[in-house]
Amino acid sequence: MNVPPGPQAGDKPIVSIRGLRKSFGDHVVLSGIDYDVMPSQVVVIIGPSGSGKSTFLRCCNGLESAESGRIDICGRTLVHDGVLLPERELNALREEVGMVFQSFNLFPHLNALDNVTLGPRKLRGLTRAQAEAEARALLDKVGLGHKAKALPASLSGGQKQRVAIARALAMKPRVMLFDEPTSALDPELVGEVLQVMKLLASEGMTMMVVTHEMGFAKEVADEVIVMDHGGIIEAGPPSTIFSQPTQERTRGFLQAVLSRA
Ligand code: ADP
Ligand code: MG
Repeated sequence: MNVPPGPQAGDKPIVSIRGLRKSFGDHVVLSGIDYDVMPSQVVVIIGPSGSGKSTFLRCCNGLESAESGRIDICGRTLVHDGVLLPERELNALREEVGMVFQSFNLFPHLNALDNVTLGPRKLRGLTRAQAEAEARALLDKVGLGHKAKALPASLSGGQKQRVAIARALAMKPRVMLFDEPTSALDPELVGEVLQVMKLLASEGMTMMVVTHEMGFAKEVADEVIVMDHGGIIEAGPPSTIFSQPTQERTRGFLQAVLSRA
C-alpha cells in the first residue's frame, strides 16, 4: 500500500499565530491576528505608528503576553490564551528567537566582543575561548572584526546596530525579529545595516522585520504585512502591496511614507 508522503518538515510554519489579541487596559492593541511564517521567509511589517507592530513582534518572543489566541514557534507553544511558557522553557525559546531593537540596547560597559560573548557564555555554556572564536567570526561577518575591543560609545549607530545583530546571532537563533532596526540611524548609516540583513536573508534566516525601508522590503521581502489599528489589513508579495494595494488605508500609508523619503 502506498502511504502518501506526510508534510515535509520544511512545509510547516516556523511561526504560527492564531487569534492573537492584546490590550493595554481597555485599549485593544492587537485585535485578533492570524499569520504563518514559513522557514526562511522574510516578512516585512509596515503600518502607521501605533498600529501595533512592536507589540506584535514582542508577543512573538514572549516579551509581552497575549491575552488570548496562541503562538507556536519553533515547534513549541509560546502562549495559549494568556498562558506563557514557564520561565525556564521561555528562556530556551528566546534563544531561538533573536530580537534587534531600534535603540541597539548594547551593554555600554562591555566592548563589542564581550557584548557578543556574554549570552553564549551564560546561556549556551560555552567557554570564553569558544565564545570568543564564534564572536570574532560573527563580528567579521557584520564587517566589524576590527572593532572587537571597541566600547559602544566609540561606535557609530550603524556599527552599534551591527554589533547588536552579531550578538543576537551568537545565540544561534532560528528566527530573527527586527523592530525598526535602522530608524535611529543617520541616513548614510542605514545601508550598512540593511546590507547585513540582506546577507542573513540570503543565507536562509527566517526574519520578521518592522521597517519603513521600502526599498529593502521590495528587494528582500517574500511577503509584506500591512497593519492598522491592531490588525493585518492586507498581506502579499511586495510587488502587489506596493503597486496594487487593495486597501485605501494601505495606499494612504504608502503615500505618506514615500512623500517623506
Ligand atoms: P507601533 O510599533 O506600530 O508604533 P506599538 O505596538 O508600539 O505600535 O503600540 C501600539 C499601541 O499600544 C499604541 O497605542 C501604544 O501607545 C500602545 N502601547 C504599547 N505599549 C504599551 C504599554 N506598555 N502600555 C500601554 N500602552 C502601550
Ligand atoms: Mg513600534
